[in-house]
Amino acid sequence: MAQTIQAIRGMHDVLPDQTPLWQYTERVLREVMGTYGYSEIRLPIVEKTELFKRSIGEVTDIVEKEMYTFEDRNGDSLTLRPEGTAGCLRACLEHGLLHNQVHRLWYYGPMYRHERPQKGRYRQFIQLGVETYGMAGPDIDAELIFIMDRLWKKLGIRDKVCLQLNSLGTIDERIVYRQVLVEYFQAHIDELDEDSKRRLQTNPLRILDTKNPAMFDLVANAPALMDYLGSETLAHFKGLTTALDDLGVSYTINTRLVRGLDYYSKTVFEWVTDELGSQGTVCAGGRYDSLVEQLGGKPNFAVGFAMGIERLLALIEVAGLVPDVKAVDVFMIRVGETAEREGLRFAETLRNEVPGLKLQVNCGGGSFKSQFKKADKIGADYALILGDDEVSKGQLSLKSLRTDQEQQTLTQQETIIFLQNYVAQLSES
Ligand code: ATP
Ligand code: MG
Repeated sequence: MAQTIQAIRGMHDVLPDQTPLWQYTERVLREVMGTYGYSEIRLPIVEKTELFKRSIGEVTDIVEKEMYTFEDRNGDSLTLRPEGTAGCLRACLEHGLLHNQVHRLWYYGPMYRHERPQKGRYRQFIQLGVETYGMAGPDIDAELIFIMDRLWKKLGIRDKVCLQLNSLGTIDERIVYRQVLVEYFQAHIDELDEDSKRRLQTNPLRILDTKNPAMFDLVANAPALMDYLGSETLAHFKGLTTALDDLGVSYTINTRLVRGLDYYSKTVFEWVTDELGSQGTVCAGGRYDSLVEQLGGKPNFAVGFAMGIERLLALIEVAGLVPDVKAVDVFMIRVGETAEREGLRFAETLRNEVPGLKLQVNCGGGSFKSQFKKADKIGADYALILGDDEVSKGQLSLKSLRTDQEQQTLTQQETIIFLQNYVAQLSES
């Protein structure tokens, strides 16, 4: 026998028993985006490598060591998108969507990062991304947080996540702060790990984002950027927290929150949970006005977030809120040549007459007994039984597989009405 081939490490199949949870979550995401009047945008998975280098920043984990980059047959350097913000903005600039317009957009799909796979950290993972353009905030910053707050509530996990907020200020404010921070870390140079020593030269703020527990104390005592912000930035931040207070959305101000990407300014936030071990950030985002110019556009405003769907699903599972969705409501059993022909025909009639019914027809023959076993195993509520006997009388038998209700003999018309009522009840519950 030939050897079987396995999936790539860190890239997972979603098997049929898991898809109901995905579909349910995706439906809720779409609904919530719709209630705020956001439009979907669909983007390529592959972009020019240059796009990510220029936007995410050369000295970031993503660009330094996580990208799936390859040369295509023309010798162009291409990259599987590690995130969606750059591609979304690229598309909007390319199609002239940012001229005197505001946009509220969302996208959903796989991202690729060559990280060490572990629980909650994969090489292919799914993100919901939300990006808005043309609005200076802080009202739109608040709206994005309301969207997420509504989503957690709809999914029943509001009590599992906390909002952390910070302001990264403007570029000028960060230059001043950077100097102070470098002096602080230089005074503690012996306590820095190798990564951080390197970052001290290239991108010292990123040290605050360290994942190394040995560095946590040092980072906790570092000067806070919040103390170096000007009045305009502080007013922006105050506007945001006031809007959150008005709606009763609680938050913690975390002055060490810098985010892993280079392009943020002013508002940044993360939704974190302590239910998922060390991969505790479910959703993260912020304002990135300067990226528009960085990618060749005119000065503009931009703010958005990305949510890791695998971590979101893990949280729904931890909370025990996985919806119970059946693939099949009714399973049709056919025994005998006439019954097999009539069954296939009548199944199509049922699908026409009973919209929403999940009907599966047994294929491949078998005795009544073996077909009943299949009906039960698949979790159907009813078995619909056709033998040649029934068919010759224009009848069918219907048996409940989940209650003690007695088997009934029905005409085709009665069967249609019975199943219409059944589906109506299902959609009510
Ligand atoms: P982390 O600090 O966990 O590495 P990040 O700052 O790199 O996250 P972002 O680039 O902000 O993450 O992506 C937004 C969200 O996407 C994260 O909060 C997380 O939920 C999810 N995410 C990021 N990387 C991965 C991954 N490798 N596997 C699964 N989900 C991920
Ligand atoms: Mg990361």
